[in-house]
Amino acid sequence: MDWDQFNQRVARLQAMSSTELSGFPLMHEGKAKRVRECPEDRDFIVMEFKDSLTAFDAIKKAERSGKGALNCAISTFMMESLRATNIIPTAFICQLSPTHQLMRRCKVVPLEVIVRNEAQGSFCKRYGLEPGTPFPSPLTEIGLKNDALHDPFFTNDDIPIDILQLLTEAEMRIIRELARSANHQLTEIFLQHRIRLLDLKFEFGRRYDTGQIVLIDEINGDTCRLVDAITGEKLDKDNFRFDLGDVMAGYVGLARHLLLDVDAILKGIDTQPSPA
Ligand code: 5GP
Repeated sequence: MDWDQFNQRVARLQAMSSTELSGFPLMHEGKAKRVRECPEDRDFIVMEFKDSLTAFDAIKKAERSGKGALNCAISTFMMESLRATNIIPTAFICQLSPTHQLMRRCKVVPLEVIVRNEAQGSFCKRYGLEPGTPFPSPLTEIGLKNDALHDPFFTNDDIPIDILQLLTEAEMRIIRELARSANHQLTEIFLQHRIRLLDLKFEFGRRYDTGQIVLIDEINGDTCRLVDAITGEKLDKDNFRFDLGDVMAGYVGLARHLLLDVDAILKGIDTQPSPA
């Protein structure tokens, strides 16, 4: 890897305005983000965080101004914190604007990998457990990422490997280990900011240049279940999913726990262009 050349390629994109970045060709539009290709750099993609909120396979929907910028800033903080541990490889390169991040281009592995530190959410519903029931150690659940099929869980490790042919057995082992380890690192990072990580969802991809399995997507209140470690105040998307409270107040609280400058984050969006 020629790092001088790499840094020049990143600097060229860092010099671009939000308007220019939002003009890049759309590769994929998801529920919370748009993925754009970098016209002159096939190794990179740009992720654009939207103000949309969805739950229950997008049956419930809302738009909240500033949500994209908050989630982008929070995910940048978490990805940079993970990078500092030197343990978990990620696709994240840097934040480019209040709502854009630069990522390495990866082939997405269509799995949702959930790690649970205690019983919450759909786990309680499935097994009739009280929320907060402790686990002896974190539990990993892997399912197919497919909204139409409601992200079905695998009941047997061999199914995705042998029948769906999504990945090799070695890659599956790497994903399990990375998810376990990233959950451990993130639990520590959140705790340093007086936040308890109850559970979260990871996604993984295969780097096009090296084939390495890396953590992709985002880490924030949309993908993690988080509470204030002392007061128990909810800081995640459950406020929206289950009408428990003001979702934006929770995300602002989360950003403040992480010592992010919320005023600056929200001021940045005044100059955001409307989506292309
Ligand atoms: P549950 O299965 O209890 O609903 O979710 C477990 C954890 O995974 C929660 O932290 C939740 O935010 C996350 N999660 C599960 N499925 C999805 C999904 O489709 N999208 C997002 N953003 N997070 C999910």
